[in-house]
Amino acid sequence: MITIKDQPQHRLASNVIVFVAFLLTAQLGTYFYREVGTSPAMIWAPIGIAFAAVILGGVSLWPSIALATIVNGMLNGTPPLIIAGATLGNTLQPLVAYYFLKRAGLNRKLASVKDMFLILGTSLFITMIVPTFNTLTINLYNYLYGGDRSTFWTSWWIGGALSALILTPFLIRWLRYPLSRRGKFRTVEIVVALLALCVISYFLFATTHVMIGSLSLIYPLLAVLLWLAFRTDSRVMTLALFLMTLISLLGALYGNYNPTAGGLSGRVFNTQVFDLFLAFIFFVLVSLEEQRKQAVAIMKDRNSQLENAMERIRQNDTTKNEFIATLAHELRNPLAAFLSSVELLLLQESPDPAEVKRLAEMMQGRVQTMGRLLDDLLDISRVSRGEMDLKKERVNLREVVRKAIEALEPMIKEHHHTFSASLPLEEIFLHADPVRLEQILVNLLTNAVKYTPPGGRIELNGKYQDDWLYLSVTDNGIGIPSHMLTRIFDSFVQVKTGSRAVSGMGIGLALTKGLVEMHGGTIVAKSEGKGSEFIVKLPATRATPENREGGSGSAGLERSVESGKFHILVVDDNIEAALGLGKLLTLRGHSADVAHDGQSALEQISKKRPDVVLLDIGLPDMDGYDVARKLKEHDDTPFLIALTGYGQIEDRERASQAGFDHHLTKPVGLADIEEVLRELGSGL
Ligand code: ADP
Repeated sequence: MITIKDQPQHRLASNVIVFVAFLLTAQLGTYFYREVGTSPAMIWAPIGIAFAAVILGGVSLWPSIALATIVNGMLNGTPPLIIAGATLGNTLQPLVAYYFLKRAGLNRKLASVKDMFLILGTSLFITMIVPTFNTLTINLYNYLYGGDRSTFWTSWWIGGALSALILTPFLIRWLRYPLSRRGKFRTVEIVVALLALCVISYFLFATTHVMIGSLSLIYPLLAVLLWLAFRTDSRVMTLALFLMTLISLLGALYGNYNPTAGGLSGRVFNTQVFDLFLAFIFFVLVSLEEQRKQAVAIMKDRNSQLENAMERIRQNDTTKNEFIATLAHELRNPLAAFLSSVELLLLQESPDPAEVKRLAEMMQGRVQTMGRLLDDLLDISRVSRGEMDLKKERVNLREVVRKAIEALEPMIKEHHHTFSASLPLEEIFLHADPVRLEQILVNLLTNAVKYTPPGGRIELNGKYQDDWLYLSVTDNGIGIPSHMLTRIFDSFVQVKTGSRAVSGMGIGLALTKGLVEMHGGTIVAKSEGKGSEFIVKLPATRATPENREGGSGSAGLERSVESGKFHILVVDDNIEAALGLGKLLTLRGHSADVAHDGQSALEQISKKRPDVVLLDIGLPDMDGYDVARKLKEHDDTPFLIALTGYGQIEDRERASQAGFDHHLTKPVGLADIEEVLRELGSGL
């Protein structure tokens, strides 16, 4: 698209360049017209220069065009009225071209058929403005002053049109865009073709040797132009046509050939029409060819995209089919066991109660297995649709690890693995859904057990660093091929081993990854041939030994928990309500302080270190979420309860994201608070 660059220093320099180029070529044209005697045919480069100038530099270049026309007229001794007409025409013409091309959306690369037609149209039609203005003012002059200056509208128009058609695209392409890199062979080919074009043009236009045998040189000329059109691009074509026009016009002016009927003027005119004709044909041809090449390139690109997509679909289809087979297999096993238990029961007339119990327990176990399978399937679909609901709370890492190990213990024993776990000395807390956190660990440990031959070694290690908890599950089992290390986290993907001795549906890791990410963490798998390691990184906080010894923070809370009495800070901008609640809490045996805005709440918390803070969300200076966020920047935060007027899921979610441990919707009674405190007392 045409854009106007309007920096003052550039504008002045560009105006000077355009002025000089316009004036010099106008003087040259005048010289040919008058001295060499091409009149009425006109060789008029300024028109093409003016078009290229406004297309490249914008309309702000009009003063140089106007001034150069005036100076040229004065140098030629043209009467003022005619200079005025010429100036008006010469200035208006490129401006009309500019606005027309801008509206039509010309791309200055001129690589499309549309752009070429725009340039052709502009060259042929808008160049009628100058000869029309000249003709009108000359006639007016003749009428006013009785002169007999003649007008040659058609010759002037053809001269201007050829100038616009040859010079404008040539200047735009060669001044605006840097040369693209071409291969050596291509460059040689272009140089040879251009040389051939120049030689043929020379013989054809400047000598009497216009035939090879009985064949006119026009045919080889067309052949070379065709060669250039199909083998190169519009840039080279603008150069080729420029060279051909230059040689043909110089040939017409100074060449050595048989005199023809029209004399010099007729020769120049005919040559111009011939050049115009060829330029028209070959610009259209080269742009068509260029567009075809682009279309082919786009098609190839699309094709390869399509092939990739097809390949992905095929892969997904295979994965899905494999999954259905696996699912059938996974369900058939427990069902078969279940069925055989039922048949056994039915066969026995008076079954032994102990046997009935054993079979019933077996059936219960199988039904539970199938239930777990279905739960996993539902979970993975919820996670992938982003519909999994997490019940986040402050979770002690040790608790979760303990439960996960308890769940896995029988399986570890059954496989005769040795198992060891090491966790950081200090207590680590996560803001997480404890059930899902346990599920993450259980999934990873189950895989470690499953994919390690009996008697293997499994480790669970936890490390805390800079507000992150790194949990790694390591085994010395069969390992994972490196190309599968990321793919195993996709749904239904399993590593193909010759025989599948282990059960599974390929959704455990996809689910695990989804859950980890929903907790703001990441998971990666590592394996070097034998053995695997899965590392989960989750945001966490810690209760450091120092602050526990200092009798504040969570250690203080623990002590309070033991006694069931807490040190509570009530933060509410409603002074009456805050004092009233504080009093009630004191009557129930707790100790209470009150604050009425965010800033004083923060100060009191850092000074008095309460166990629990009841925090109203709507405070005068900052909202409760901000207070919570500020508090969570430190390790030893009190137990935070949000008091809000809104109880929507989003409000709860927002509160929990800000770091609140609990959320109560107003109006809040003493009983509600005491219930939370009781839970807090039993939960730690
Ligand atoms: P599955 O139900 O098949 O265990 P998962 O999604 O849990 O599904 O795991 C996907 C695949 O990743 C497994 O089929 C297995 O090939 C591979 N894999 C997972 N954990 C391990 C591990 N600890 N060692 C070796 N391979 C593993």
